[in-house]
Amino acid sequence: MYDILIVGAGPAGMTAAIYARRASKSVLVLEAKTYGGQIVNTPDIENYPVAAHISGFDFATKVYEQAAALGAEFKFEKVTDIADNGDYKTVTTPKHTYEAKTVILATGSENRKLGLPDEDKLTGRGVSYCATCDGAFYRKKVVAVVGGGNTALEDALYLADLAEKVYIIHRRDAFRGEEANAARIAAKENIEVLWNSQVTKLIAEKKLSAIEVTNKDGSVQTLEINGLFVAVGRIPENQNFAKLIELDDAGYVKAGENCLTNVPGIFVAGDNRVKEVRQLVTATGDGAVAATAAIRYLNEG
Ligand code: NAP
Repeated sequence: MYDILIVGAGPAGMTAAIYARRASKSVLVLEAKTYGGQIVNTPDIENYPVAAHISGFDFATKVYEQAAALGAEFKFEKVTDIADNGDYKTVTTPKHTYEAKTVILATGSENRKLGLPDEDKLTGRGVSYCATCDGAFYRKKVVAVVGGGNTALEDALYLADLAEKVYIIHRRDAFRGEEANAARIAAKENIEVLWNSQVTKLIAEKKLSAIEVTNKDGSVQTLEINGLFVAVGRIPENQNFAKLIELDDAGYVKAGENCLTNVPGIFVAGDNRVKEVRQLVTATGDGAVAATAAIRYLNEG
């Protein structure tokens, strides 16, 4: 029986492991893929205090080593189910069933992809899913943002202050995002919106150099761009807990800044919970909050 079982070895989960071990709690971290979560896709982190430049992979490796050195146990197994037995929880993977007094859900969320050939290969080479992470690499360059929600609109506005030109490619003739954002977009001289349009091809040798865009009327154009920012929504990885944990309509765990879920003894940290700002620094912050809440729950018996 572990004191704290953490689902997900991204920045939130691994920070929770550090806090839990420093409070001498036994910790198991279960991760479906490899440690690090989505930050490993970021080539250069510039917005995390202390490290002016560090790759996402190096960042993840350092946090992993820190948590492991403190005695956190890591196993690479996908959690398929969690059951609440009151004062302990049962966590199931295809290989084993684990018991823990508390659980922290830190599974993160996945970017929804366009599903185009070479999209994965070009991620970090001209294709990005995070304007605030990677926008600075496109100063005075030409970029395109795909999507019509608030994320796409805010990404376009953010990029318009850095890049020479920003295209927004949206599949319909009206934005889903707020009118205030749409009005700010309309007022920006270096943003051009391509309505009723979809990206149908990524053109690249080593790095992205252009995209093919197809309009609803069947016309096709090639845009020479340096960067493509995909902002077509996210998919929180909570599907396997949906029958136990309260989720919102978009699938995020309903929890506030205190990281408490509807189930006593089960906490949430990072991108898979309802929150305003999904950044590395807020994920690690959540890890600390959730672990502290779990430690308090354990100590209060
Ligand atoms: P979203 O609101 O779900 O918007 C996703 C956009 O991507 C939609 O415009 C959608 O088109 C488009 N899309 C989806 N799949 C596509 C595909 N395969 N190909 C092309 N386009 C595709 O997602 P989001 O913008 O990430 O926002 C998520 C939530 O966070 C929203 O509730 C949003 O309001 C909120 N948010 C709030 C703020 C803020 O308040 N400051 C900032 C960011 C996000 P359709 O419109 O045609 O469906």
